[in-house]
Amino acid sequence: MTKYQVEEIYGTTVVSSGTVVESDPMKAAEATAGQRVLPRALQDHWFRVVDEDQAAVYEYSLAGPDERPEEWTKLSDLGSPILGHTRESDAADEQESFYNCPICGQPVDMHDLRQVMWHEQPRHERLKPEIVKRS
Ligand SMILES: [Zn+2]
Repeated sequence: MTKYQVEEIYGTTVVSSGTVVESDPMKAAEATAGQRVLPRALQDHWFRVVDEDQAAVYEYSLAGPDERPEEWTKLSDLGSPILGHTRESDAADEQESFYNCPICGQPVDMHDLRQVMWHEQPRHERLKPEIVKRS
C-alpha cells in the first residue's frame, strides 16, 4: 500500500485535498471521488494524485457524470446554534416555532437564528437536514 496525496481540482482551484492509502494511484483517486475515474483528458474537474515517495504525479477525472449529490450547505457550516430565546417549550409550542420558507419551501426553526438568517437571503439553497440536538 502506498500513501498518496489526492487533490480534487476545478480548473486550477484545489477544492479539497487529503491523504489516501491505496494500492495504486487510480484507486486513490476513486476513493476520493467515490466513483470510477479515468486518466484525465481535458476535463475541468479532475483529481491530482501525488506519490511523494516516487515523486510521481497522476491526473484523473471522473469516468462518468458526477454522481455525488450536489454540495449542500450544512447547518453546521453556519456555526453553532444561535438560539433566539430560551424557554421551556411543550410539543404544541414546538410546532409553532416552524414556518415554511417562501423561497425554498423548507421548514425553518424560528428558534435558531442561523436558519432564519439563511432563509432570509434572497437567493439560497435548502439547508442539508441535520438532527439538531437541543440541550
Ligand atoms: Zn429557504
